[in-house]
Amino acid sequence: MTDFGPLGPVETEAARYIAELARGELAPPIEEVPPAGPARHAGPTALAEPVPFGPPEPATAVAPALPAPRRPGVVLTGGPPPGAAAVETRDACAWFGDHLVLEDVNLTMPTGQVTALIGPSGCGKSTFLRLLNRMHELVPGASLAGEVLLDGEDVYRYGMRAQQVRLRIGMVFQKPNPFPAMTVRDNVLSGLKLARIRCSDPNALVEQSLQRASLWREVRDRLGDPGGGLSGGQQQRLCIARALAVQPNVLLMDEPCSALDPTSTRRIEETIAELRDVVTVIIVTHNMQQAHRVSDRCAFFLAAENEPGRVIEWGSTTKMFEDPDDERTLAYVEGRFG
Ligand code: ADP
Ligand code: MG
Repeated sequence: MTDFGPLGPVETEAARYIAELARGELAPPIEEVPPAGPARHAGPTALAEPVPFGPPEPATAVAPALPAPRRPGVVLTGGPPPGAAAVETRDACAWFGDHLVLEDVNLTMPTGQVTALIGPSGCGKSTFLRLLNRMHELVPGASLAGEVLLDGEDVYRYGMRAQQVRLRIGMVFQKPNPFPAMTVRDNVLSGLKLARIRCSDPNALVEQSLQRASLWREVRDRLGDPGGGLSGGQQQRLCIARALAVQPNVLLMDEPCSALDPTSTRRIEETIAELRDVVTVIIVTHNMQQAHRVSDRCAFFLAAENEPGRVIEWGSTTKMFEDPDDERTLAYVEGRFG
């Protein structure tokens, strides 16, 4: 067994993500991998080499030439298109080597709503998140089939760059991973710098992002202090601010509170509620009360023994918790297993 450390695979995954981010500025331009055109269930799709989190495309190929002013005073150039975006998966499957771990996931995650992914450990929730923003392909030997549509556009289509997808679909991990020696301010701006997004007013963006992450009041006088000096809960909100600064269309959160105390957890839940108007939030949580509190919709993942993870049921959170169709959903939300 691979030793993933005390927090499981998430820790190494977050470290890899940051390493890829940091490498982005230096890596040579990458060639887009042609689509492998998977036949469903014909087996894993060859992903060629894992695609590095490479440098941004030349200015001409990046986003629209005209920046879209979305907040008064802060204009980003070269970032994601404005606003929240819907995510939909069609028959999404994922493999690690020959091991099929996720089968035929069909989910719609609409804008303006928080979707919670629930289910026991090992049923593929994190893998599903990584499929959405093309981080799955960073895992050596990983492959996939099916479609992931971001506002109707397949993120795996030929010509779609992984880095652009990851800018549009930001991610926050279980363990807070700010750049510890970097100042709070530079942490917030680090995603922009690495993707070479230009900002008309960085100070306003720092304030706006920290406010959205409900951290501004606590750090407004400490913007020059190292990010590593903040408490765990503050570091997690700093990571949320960093993810928000590039103004993504979707924010993925993989158990963002599981390393935090109850007060910090509460703060993050309040933050998520406010973010719903800004980005489409998709959160994995093992905490059923949390899923109930923060989400509008839920998807219940389950993997039977020696079988891949599948979505057993999905729908409005109220229905999933109060009157689910499947007996297994009821058993899980009532805490009878998992
Ligand atoms: P969850 O997030 O629901 O706990 P994961 O998506 O982490 O589940 O894992 C789903 C399955 O994929 C598990 O069987 C797990 O062991 C396997 N898995 C996850 N990451 C890797 C990896 N990097 N290499 C090989 N297998 C993996
Ligand atoms: Mg997980």
